[in-house]
Amino acid sequence: MENCIFCKIVAGEIPSPRLYEDDKMIVIRDIEPKAKLHYLCIPKTHFALLSEMDDARADVVKHCFTVIPTLEKELGLEGGYRVIINQGENGGQTVHHLHIHLLGGEKLADF
Ligand code: 5GP
Ligand code: ZN
Repeated sequence: MENCIFCKIVAGEIPSPRLYEDDKMIVIRDIEPKAKLHYLCIPKTHFALLSEMDDARADVVKHCFTVIPTLEKELGLEGGYRVIINQGENGGQTVHHLHIHLLGGEKLADF
């Protein structure tokens, strides 16, 4: 997708160290961390919103949620973490390529 920053990161056009990668997703550090540890799990396929879900996209999201728990130890998230998917304007979504925030490394403020 043209002009999508996360597609560019996935394609390697914008360098960003990958803490994990497989055929469906990457995990990188958020450039502006909102917690001591702040990661982004980014599906390799572009779609913006959960409302655009179809079976293929659901498979990718399922894959992300299957892999994320296996990475807890190496990402330093054993003490627990918060999972966030911001949706659209009211949800504060700024990058319109669906991604999963993982926040942890400290006791987070009540939500
Ligand atoms: P959203 O607000 O769309 O849920 O989250 C987008 C996130 O992407 C923000 O937390 C922002 O800091 C992060 N971000 C934006 N551009 C870049 C980038 O070029 N590299 C990385 N690693 N994170 C980015
Ligand atoms: Zn994209």
